Amino acid sequence: MQRKNTTKQTATKTQPDGRTAAVAPATTVVATVVRKRYGTGHFDEHWLNIDCCGLFCAALTYFLHSYGCYAVCRILIPPWMNYSTDDGVRKLSFWGILHTITFCSIALMAVISHFKAMTTDPGAVPADAEPIPDELDNSKAKEGMEDLEALPPRPKKPSRMCRRCHSYKPNRAHHCSICKRCIIKMDHHCPWVNNCVGIGNHKYFLLFILYTFFFLWICDLPSCDKILSMFTYH
Ligand SMILES: [Zn+2]
Ligand SMILES: [Zn+2]
Repeated sequence: MQRKNTTKQTATKTQPDGRTAAVAPATTVVATVVRKRYGTGHFDEHWLNIDCCGLFCAALTYFLHSYGCYAVCRILIPPWMNYSTDDGVRKLSFWGILHTITFCSIALMAVISHFKAMTTDPGAVPADAEPIPDELDNSKAKEGMEDLEALPPRPKKPSRMCRRCHSYKPNRAHHCSICKRCIIKMDHHCPWVNNCVGIGNHKYFLLFILYTFFFLWICDLPSCDKILSMFTYH
């Protein structure tokens, strides 16, 4: 939220003959910015989309990963990978322990990648962003470019300004109506990570997809084993 206060000051000027004359009042514009702790605004401290649907989807993602860990490590693996001791006690085998540690590590990496994708600035255009000067003007100093000066000057394109967030809009930037910001190289707004996917968090988003793929693949190993056993054991 931005509020502008306008203050008018009356000034006088002493002339050479000793008389004082009033001059036009100076106008000072003071902008006050409220900086929130979490949000997607220009001056907010930490990036987090305060969107009910997105926060619910993010919480549901964490719940599903936690439930997957419980289902695999407590229900699927113990009766599948175990051995009996001399006392008749059934214990988790070496492969069962290795499987459990691997699965929980992948789930943890998926959750960390999700959290980083959600809380990282996806590439929002700063409030003071300005267009880069035309490269053609800078290249005039280079040798061998004198011929270009003979050409008629190219018409300059007007700098694009976003009508909704009132910031400069670079090429390949799109405005997100949920984040209320223009995002550079915006791919899409993903409700599951409660954030836009752009130049700033593309890596974390792809890592989250990769870890979740392995997470689901290991989840499905017991069923793969049963399917294989139908063709192996008679
Ligand atoms: Zn915008
Ligand atoms: Zn967005």
